[in-house]
Amino acid sequence: MEYKSFEPETDLEKENLKSMGITELFYTIQGEGKNIGQPSVFVRTGGCTLSCSYCDTKYSSRPNYKSIIKISNMDDSLEVVNKIVEIGTEGDRNVKSCVFTGGEPLQTHHIDNLSTMVGSLWGSYNIKSVFETTMITEPKSVLFKNKNVWSETIDIWDKLTRFIQVSPKDGVVQFCISPKLDISCYRADVTLTDIFIFYRPNIDCEICEETDNLMTFKIVYYPEIENEILQFVDEFYNYPNLRNSIYIMPYTKFPYSRDEFHESCLTTVDFCKKHSLNYSPREHIYLYDLKKGV
Ligand code: SF4
Repeated sequence: MEYKSFEPETDLEKENLKSMGITELFYTIQGEGKNIGQPSVFVRTGGCTLSCSYCDTKYSSRPNYKSIIKISNMDDSLEVVNKIVEIGTEGDRNVKSCVFTGGEPLQTHHIDNLSTMVGSLWGSYNIKSVFETTMITEPKSVLFKNKNVWSETIDIWDKLTRFIQVSPKDGVVQFCISPKLDISCYRADVTLTDIFIFYRPNIDCEICEETDNLMTFKIVYYPEIENEILQFVDEFYNYPNLRNSIYIMPYTKFPYSRDEFHESCLTTVDFCKKHSLNYSPREHIYLYDLKKGV
């Protein structure tokens, strides 16, 4: 049955809220978006603020995820940096990109540990950090039903500018933001208007418009949310660089089948051609289906 409760229930779920859990650490190529094909070390963090039915990493996004490493302090963070570098320099490798994905890597209680890792990766090894994120980062707000995630959450532009201040050099940190435009991913009281307000560009995002490679958007397509996607893209009319950084990706249905995924790619390409939008393949799925750690 699909996980729909946002309350931590088991001891494992409660325990998972206390530290930053890593569920996978592996080397592969980036399979999606603007950096497609780029050799990268992937760090998959546990836990997510949303609950999407089509999530293909449920083993890492649901509150009962199992960690291979737990990070509670700066020493733990630096130990993980050493592992990233070890993987990225094995044999003839000289990897210059580390992708933090999830789950939701930018959960608020991860931020100090992440900042330590980002600083050390760049400062000591010249490795950039890329975050794959929804930017909805307050786990408690979503986990505890009485709190309203939207009224408590500062918007994404404010968060981005804060992160950029920590690490201002162009290209050191990149954000691949994937807004979920399907209302079923959210708690019952969240509306589509809330979602649009959360991602709506404003004055703070001008720094993002002017900074190359700082951020891109990736949106999963299926026909039922065509209007929402077009509305989202329209919001960026006055920000041509950001609009041009929006990538549309095919959906994975469950149970997964290669033929259906191929069909989904073709439908997504048709949609992109019709509306002159960027298509992004999901190359890792094409190559490896839903196999983990590759
Ligand atoms: S936001 Fe991403 S990781 Fe979280 S449940 Fe949705 S698809 Fe999965």
